[in-house]
Amino acid sequence: MRLSALFSLCLLACAPPTNTGDARVNGEGDNGGRQQAPGDNNGNNNNNNVDNNGNNNGNVIPDPNDLLDPGSKCDCSSECWGTDDNPGICVLGLCMQAAAGDCSESGSRSECDGRSRCWGAEGLSGSICWPDANAYDCEGSTDGDGSCVPTAEDSCDSSCSDFCVRSEGGGGDVNRCDSITCPDGQLCDPSSGQCIETDQNLPAGSPPDCERDVPAFNDCDPRGGANSCAELIQFNPVRSLGYWDYPLNGETVNDQYRSWARRDLMLLIQRATAATQCLSEDWDYQAYQDLGLGDMSERDGSIPGTREGRPGHPPGTHTNGHDMDIAYYQVGQRNNWLRSVCEHVENGQDQYRCTADPVILDVYRSALFIGRLHDTPYLRVIGVDGKVGPLIRNAVAQLCGAGWLRNSACSRLKLAYEVEDQGQGWYRFHHHHLHISLSAPTNGW
Ligand SMILES: [Zn+2]
Repeated sequence: MRLSALFSLCLLACAPPTNTGDARVNGEGDNGGRQQAPGDNNGNNNNNNVDNNGNNNGNVIPDPNDLLDPGSKCDCSSECWGTDDNPGICVLGLCMQAAAGDCSESGSRSECDGRSRCWGAEGLSGSICWPDANAYDCEGSTDGDGSCVPTAEDSCDSSCSDFCVRSEGGGGDVNRCDSITCPDGQLCDPSSGQCIETDQNLPAGSPPDCERDVPAFNDCDPRGGANSCAELIQFNPVRSLGYWDYPLNGETVNDQYRSWARRDLMLLIQRATAATQCLSEDWDYQAYQDLGLGDMSERDGSIPGTREGRPGHPPGTHTNGHDMDIAYYQVGQRNNWLRSVCEHVENGQDQYRCTADPVILDVYRSALFIGRLHDTPYLRVIGVDGKVGPLIRNAVAQLCGAGWLRNSACSRLKLAYEVEDQGQGWYRFHHHHLHISLSAPTNGW
């Protein structure tokens, strides 16, 4: 057995995503794209029979019927059920399966069994199928993505599993760049531990200390009560801390009926804009302007526009205050209200997506803001346009490498976009805003 320093499993599983695959048809779905298990049994007749659990150090070939499902506690990989393609492995004390190959993208299902998703793991070799917590009996805890992950107390036996040694890192953060010094003109990307070329547009200087100036994201009660995280409240105040919930889409100053959000979502946005404002105060290519907030939910949790008989979003999205549309930070505009950051008309037809590279996108402030939205462990996904996504991804790596960002955005960026239309719903309608979706803090703060 081996215990080591603090770590975070959200950070442990890592690989730069091209798309989280988290989107439903419309890309703005609430269920995180998690598939429900077709049944409770995956065909291995496993009844969690633990007769051979424990001190089986590989000397005995276990009866397949006795093997443990993904999500069960284990000491050795030989205890865990798997298939030829996806052999069972014991990862930090929980049964999982090895991926059939390298993850084709972060959270991909194609290398796994359909009830698990593929992520790499820092400090561990190979790609791992992380079981969906709602598809297996999860004896660990559920992370913000709905995966079943070991708790900090879980561990396993390194003599019979290659996946028992935790990555070490301060404050739960894993930084693969700790022992790496890059040549001049390059910086280290913490998600890969690789040296990458420094972008010449990366703002110079070093980040100011802003932690005292930003409000908490978790100043609410996940269990309910008077300060419930789940309570829908009208975004308040309307303008403060680097954001501006100006009236739009038929709202008026006195009737901001599309601006109701869960308290935890409101707190997170306020924190992220405040942090972006403070950190980027000295970036001289563009003065800071308050970030425009768009549609959230209505007071009763319905889709904005429902009151007028015209729901403005696909079914299942923007309900119950989990979602919000937010402008991109821009350059050269009189404000940061929602507007297209790119050309989006082709042959006289609006394509509702960027048809060319963005021209008024403030890439670095947008990336900083998106990065800080990862301060919560319950971020589900952020969706952006397909021509915005790659720019943001690179800018996040640059900001992480230069120390502007230090959270899980650096190891596990939850950014979704579609370069080609894959039917996930991000391809259109995100040229003038990003969409953020939160899950509920099921395990508390
Ligand atoms: Zn939206």
